[in-house]
Amino acid sequence: AAPSTNKPIMNWSSLLSPDPYFLPELKLQGKVAIVTGGASGIGESTTHLFWKNGAKVVIADIQDELGQAISDKLGENVCYIHCDVSNEEEVINLVDATVANFGHLDIMFNNAGIADRPLGSILDTTKSDLERVLRVNVIGSYLGAKHAARVMVPQRRGCILFTASACASIAGLASHSYVISKHGVVGLSKNLAAELGQYGIRVNCISPSGLVTGLSLSARQGATPEQIEAGLHELGNLKGKFFRVEDVAKAMLYLASDDGGYVSGHNLVLDGGISVVNPSIL
Ligand code: NAD
Repeated sequence: AAPSTNKPIMNWSSLLSPDPYFLPELKLQGKVAIVTGGASGIGESTTHLFWKNGAKVVIADIQDELGQAISDKLGENVCYIHCDVSNEEEVINLVDATVANFGHLDIMFNNAGIADRPLGSILDTTKSDLERVLRVNVIGSYLGAKHAARVMVPQRRGCILFTASACASIAGLASHSYVISKHGVVGLSKNLAAELGQYGIRVNCISPSGLVTGLSLSARQGATPEQIEAGLHELGNLKGKFFRVEDVAKAMLYLASDDGGYVSGHNLVLDGGISVVNPSIL
């Protein structure tokens, strides 16, 4: 009989990369990203952080002056393309022009979104409000993901990201149309993760709670940024900490980079703990 031994049958460390704890200085070096809604708020902040981490970034938005100004400021590795995400022709052009310009597409961040009105009764809503919000938030996300997948599947790699909202986890935070749309985004993200994993494509979404941006200002017309921030802080759980678009951008960098290399099908809720501390509002 073979003598018993305590030696491992396989040297597992040989399967690891030379330094599994190596942290590259630039986390997206060589990557090409599209950020929809990149001209302001979460998208603008994420564009900056992706670019600072070595990515080439295409800003897609309908606010041409703002988008072009960011692109001009950041230089040759960033460009602006006008794209209404609810218009399929424009989304096709966005993806094809990105690949023509930068050679490939690694990260598609479907972030553009609109809100309609503050929380209110369903009796005060209209079908056309709902259709308007769904066209941008759901159909826009679907079109961005579909045309990114068209490029990423043959590449056998890629990362598709979405901005959903904490209102897809916590009831009573936003209007019915917005809530319906963000549940759709979470569902699309998970379903796509299931489908596209076989091609090495990761798909994730984030669900932030309230932030002061153009979107929250338009949903609470008449309120100042200070009033909105004070209200959000009151609702928040992490006292003394204000939630900023930069916090969201850092979460996106984690999901987009190799740091999140085994994360897929996840909905990363950034709500400062509201949903666990106040289960009564669930
Ligand atoms: P924002 O208004 O600053 O940014 C949204 C951007 O999307 C704008 O630049 C706008 O021009 C662009 N956009 C709107 N419609 C578009 C269209 N049809 N095609 C292309 N671009 C379009 O607001 P934000 O808060 O940064 O919003 C970004 C995302 O974050 C949205 O999906 C929003 O629903 C989500 N979100 C926001 C909050 C919040 O409190 N601000 C919370 C949770 C989720």
